[in-house]
Amino acid sequence: MPMPPDPEAFIEQVLGDEERYLNTSLAHLMRFMGLDTVEWEGEGAILRDVRGKEYIDCSGYGVLFHGHSHPRVVRAVQEQAARLAISSRMLPHAPAATLARMLGEATPGDLQYTFFCNSGAEAVEGAIKLARARTRRPGLIATEGGFHGKTLGALALNGKAFYRDPFEPLLPGVRLVPFGDAAALAAAVDETVAAVVLEPIQGEAGVIIPPDGYLQAARAACDRAGALLILDEVQTGIGRTGTLFACEPSGVVPDILCMAKSLGGGVMPIGAFTARPDVWQPFDENPFIHTSTFGGNPLACAAGIAALEAIREEGLLEKAKARGAQMLAGLEAIAADHPEVVPEVRGRGLLIGLDIASQALGGVFMSELLDRGVLPTISLNKLQVVRLLPPAVISEEQTRQVVEAVGAAVAAAAAMKDELEGA
Ligand code: PLP
Repeated sequence: MPMPPDPEAFIEQVLGDEERYLNTSLAHLMRFMGLDTVEWEGEGAILRDVRGKEYIDCSGYGVLFHGHSHPRVVRAVQEQAARLAISSRMLPHAPAATLARMLGEATPGDLQYTFFCNSGAEAVEGAIKLARARTRRPGLIATEGGFHGKTLGALALNGKAFYRDPFEPLLPGVRLVPFGDAAALAAAVDETVAAVVLEPIQGEAGVIIPPDGYLQAARAACDRAGALLILDEVQTGIGRTGTLFACEPSGVVPDILCMAKSLGGGVMPIGAFTARPDVWQPFDENPFIHTSTFGGNPLACAAGIAALEAIREEGLLEKAKARGAQMLAGLEAIAADHPEVVPEVRGRGLLIGLDIASQALGGVFMSELLDRGVLPTISLNKLQVVRLLPPAVISEEQTRQVVEAVGAAVAAAAAMKDELEGA
């Protein structure tokens, strides 16, 4: 499809509609941040706007591990759409069964049974329902700064009061503990707790990597108290950190593993949770106790199958490790030169966060980065952290360009530091 002949008129139309009918304050914020344009097409690591400006896309909140419009995923979805897009829900269909088998085989340990839904929050909702039904206990332990989605149940686990407060009372029985503190976690897990819900690396909190041994300690605390361990890999899963699931290097097998985002190959929305056979018992006893009309639809599952095949056959995990290491090394050098702007950089694989010293510097940094054609991701639970979540298909040269753009944007912010702080 050709680009609109008059991009400026098109942009005004879209921004106007957004302002009047979609999200007024977000539209204003985007304009303020210099994002007064409209995205048009994507291919691999490149996103193009209607003016034809290209960005190396490190955004998407972790959905784009495969990059934009991965040909294999697009083809699978197109073929499925032409044949059977939506299931009768009376007969089984192959895409859901096949993808469930692939996940049973690809997830760690004896994780086996999968429930499909349409988003990350829904995956977490289902997982906490399953944990409560299996244990018949009310308690849930989550972590400060953690993010699990914004439906009522998942929101109750959110580690930032700003998002919870307007909707209280949320789920009773939820307790938050500091992330990474094994002793605090162990002290909180008792016989009233159905599950501990953890991200192996916190994403929206700004890429917080827990100390070694934390997941093992969480596993042990759950085992001692008969509680379940739910790992929320909605953001970290499906390759983002360089392994298919971020929990793999720890050797820890959760009772329930949540995923979404890149499971759709950057083409379809899909969420899922996979559990051990013993934990699945409530769903075995009543197959209608937890259902979703669109969950596991043929189109989304066709995308999921192609996404997992692409990871395996195109060596995307190795690419994620290599490009992640290249990018992190470059960013660490920039942070070492300008600690007054970037006090710290953290990352694993292609999940990378830069601490920015102040909000004013963050504003300049973001706008300079956008000008230089790099699209970053903000961190919902910690705005001082700017994240880079590029796809595994990013090339070595594009990775170098991202580092160069970050370096120039940091230098520009550093040059304005005194002025900004005097203001
Ligand atoms: N869990 C984690 C760890 C996430 O990062 C997110 C989204 O960023 C969610 C759950 C919620 O996913 P969704 O926005 O698809 O509901």
